[in-house]
Amino acid sequence: MSAQVKISSKRIVPEVPLKGLETLWLQVGGTLCNLECTHCFISCGPKNDTIPMMTLAQVRERLEESATLGVKDYYITGGEVFINPEIFEILNLILRYGPLDVLTNGTQITAEKARRLQEIQKASRHPLRFRVSMESFEESANDAIRGKSAYKKAVTGIGHLAEAGFSPILTITRSWEEELDGEMELQFIEFLRANRVPQPQIKILPGFMLGKLAENERPYTDEERVTEACFENFDITQLQCATSRMATGEGVYVCPILVDNPMARMGNTIEETLRPFPLSHPACYTCRVTGMTCKSST
Ligand code: SF4
Ligand code: SF4
Repeated sequence: MSAQVKISSKRIVPEVPLKGLETLWLQVGGTLCNLECTHCFISCGPKNDTIPMMTLAQVRERLEESATLGVKDYYITGGEVFINPEIFEILNLILRYGPLDVLTNGTQITAEKARRLQEIQKASRHPLRFRVSMESFEESANDAIRGKSAYKKAVTGIGHLAEAGFSPILTITRSWEEELDGEMELQFIEFLRANRVPQPQIKILPGFMLGKLAENERPYTDEERVTEACFENFDITQLQCATSRMATGEGVYVCPILVDNPMARMGNTIEETLRPFPLSHPACYTCRVTGMTCKSST
């Protein structure tokens, strides 16, 4: 049974404890992105500077703090991380602290950048991994969501990463019925093989009815909320917010999903966020129902 918290005269919601801070996310790309995907749950795009990119100095500050709190691994995301002008210095710095997963749309990765990434990996004792997001192994279906030429550029980026010895994990937001996952997975693995990725892997994410997806498809309904009953047979500490936090250029948030939501901003520093969080947002319902985590391994 989870702890409860009263958030209004009519609503009591479960509260997720912070079991231990294992993972630190850093939104180094802010909400800026070179693409404008029709399902982006934080509505990132070339003009969205709601949350600024993180500077190297800000990243350093959060890393120094994380080292005192026992963080084991790091993830960076955006927006698009490769439009941050300090990205290579940021990668070098994070890898001094621990393993790093980089979430990217892959469209900015040239042969020259991939070679620099290879050098960075060679100089580090910690692994550097990439997750490249796409929608489909078919160009027209991919570009209908991600925009013109996004497919060709991402495939080129994946190829450069593979040539540099990386095995990028392909990340896809599910746009098909869940029972077709197995079939889709095989096709995506085949797509990666055809693009010379040494160890093909994919990660399928559920859609969050937020941002562009809420505008273009539908927002959450009133029934889609977590309640005490949701955690009768589910360990609440399996949710990723029980073991991670999300640092940005303007504060620390509970998780990567609610990063542009003021109620999810828990403090200015990580230290200020070391407390339970009330699961009052409808997106928490998606996490509970799908058991999803933004991390690469599960
Ligand atoms: S889904 Fe990813 S690639 Fe697409 S606009 Fe959002 S941040 Fe950019
Ligand atoms: S959206 Fe998911 S990860 Fe974020 S606070 Fe809610 S349950 Fe936790």
